[in-house]
Amino acid sequence: MTVKYESHGLPLDEYQLSRADHRRQSEADEIAAWVERQVAKAPPWSEEQYQRVQAMLDGHTAPPPWEYMRWRVRLYCGHIQEIERHCRDARPDRDTQDTRCSECGKDPAVIVAFEVIGAVAEPPKAPKAPKAPKAPKTNSQNTASRPGRTSRRTKADLEAENSALRAEIERLRRSDTK
Ligand SMILES: [Zn+2]
Repeated sequence: MTVKYESHGLPLDEYQLSRADHRRQSEADEIAAWVERQVAKAPPWSEEQYQRVQAMLDGHTAPPPWEYMRWRVRLYCGHIQEIERHCRDARPDRDTQDTRCSECGKDPAVIVAFEVIGAVAEPPKAPKAPKAPKAPKTNSQNTASRPGRTSRRTKADLEAENSALRAEIERLRRSDTK
């Protein structure tokens, strides 16, 4: 698999925002505001729900570092940062993740210009086949999240859900440490 990595808006430090950039940023702001309202309205999670999401997150194994590429990106706020994206992504801005600027804190801040730097890490010389973890046996069948029903959801729906989940987890974390 060869991916031809794209670049956009070079040189990054001279990039001027386009109308499309303003539009994408305001869309990202709207989604973030919507998610915030949903989270505020939602009843607090039960212990059971919390455990279930934790288990789901624990079960998710992130790809190894050599499957990631490092990018230099210019964010909407004008700051230039380095981020990582999976190597199959030919550009870093087609992601459901919006970037938070670690310099000014703007969140979300859309990516307006970018160039690839290189792989995050070299793959090991003799990669071992990863051990497949044994799936725990469960008797209770949860049919609520069957695939199929979800296939017609739009990207915006998925983005909103993704952000809502992350916001909810963040909120739980914060309330945990109180
Ligand atoms: Zn910034």
